[in-house]
Amino acid sequence: MRALLSADTDQALVRARSSGEVLVGAMRLGLIMTIVVTNTIFDPSVVTHPLGVTLTFAAPLYALAMLFLAYRVQGSWISWASCAVDVTLITLTLSLFVVNGKPMGAINNRFLFETYAFVAINSTLRFDWRLCAFTSALAVLQYVGLSYYVAAHWDLLSLTSEEFGNFAPRSHVFRIIVLIGVGATTVAAAKWARHLRLMVGTDHLTGLSQRRPFLERIEEELARSGERSTLSIALFDVDEFKRFNDRFGHLAGDRALQLLAQRLRKLVRTTDLVARFGGEEFVVAFPRMDVARAARRVNELRADLAQVSLPTTEGVQHLTVSAGVGSWPEDGQTFDEVLGRVDERLYEAKRTGRNRIVGPEAALRSVQDA
Ligand code: GH3
Ligand code: MG
Ligand code: MG
Repeated sequence: MRALLSADTDQALVRARSSGEVLVGAMRLGLIMTIVVTNTIFDPSVVTHPLGVTLTFAAPLYALAMLFLAYRVQGSWISWASCAVDVTLITLTLSLFVVNGKPMGAINNRFLFETYAFVAINSTLRFDWRLCAFTSALAVLQYVGLSYYVAAHWDLLSLTSEEFGNFAPRSHVFRIIVLIGVGATTVAAAKWARHLRLMVGTDHLTGLSQRRPFLERIEEELARSGERSTLSIALFDVDEFKRFNDRFGHLAGDRALQLLAQRLRKLVRTTDLVARFGGEEFVVAFPRMDVARAARRVNELRADLAQVSLPTTEGVQHLTVSAGVGSWPEDGQTFDEVLGRVDERLYEAKRTGRNRIVGPEAALRSVQDA
């Protein structure tokens, strides 16, 4: 349940939601300004009664304030708040007709009813299906509540209005069904956007992140944790994997990579970032972990991976890995520089016998002492 309600951590989705909020803010302002101007052209007297003046000026001010907030606020709460407020303001505007003794203006108002759909469809631009479901559900609930209130206080079937027509129960129900349908479509669209985003950055064989999204997340991690923080990196390479492939076949090789990747993912913390970097190379980033601790951890991972049972046509086999370890900012100013140093250490581990790790001197001493 908590996972269902927690905010998305995928940075690309967070960025998409944030820019979607600004886009919706601009569209809201555009729509409200167009309506206000058109309304004033059709009926200049609108600015002569207090309610008309309030709406003519309050609505654009609201839209401006929301656009400003969309620019300034990064948290996901702004999207939830703006959807809830948009829907509620439509319902309140419809309620004004009830207050003014025009119940048909509330429940037969085609134009204002369609603005519910405008808000619901725009919720998709925040790329969060829960928000889409919430927005449409809120609109349906409020509209049904308003209809119920009107039905409880007026005899609907005898009501007529020159401007808003007569009450037709079937059209009323269909209108609500269409709004539910719009909600279902927005939920599906937001879910697909998320699915596509996650699929694009994921390696098909192992299910791990690919190189590019991994590098993007590292950059965000470095930007977030600031100058004084440390980030350790390990690059793993499976030993003699070509021989394994040649002896047991490519399929067994694929299965071995899957099993090693699964075990690696399971062994690290959820905050550590793991990616498949190349054929049989994996990289792990340990945020806020110094290199001595990381080296001990990587050595444990090396020992663990050597225990993974790999099924082949000739029975269960095992593979070993070598790893290079380093850290930012000690091993370089940029992440690429650090990775370069870590890669050199990985080759040193290969040259000096495989099934071992190489890191900075002090870190290795701490591994030996452990
Ligand atoms: P070293 O210990 O020096 O790393 O030797 P190695 O044989 O592991 O290294 P080398 O780079 O010579 O060979 C890597 C092999 O990994 C060659 C390639 O066929 C295999 N490989 C890369 N990607 C995949 C894959 O997705 N599936 C399978 N089955 N094999 C792969
Ligand atoms: Mg390799
Ligand atoms: Mg290898």
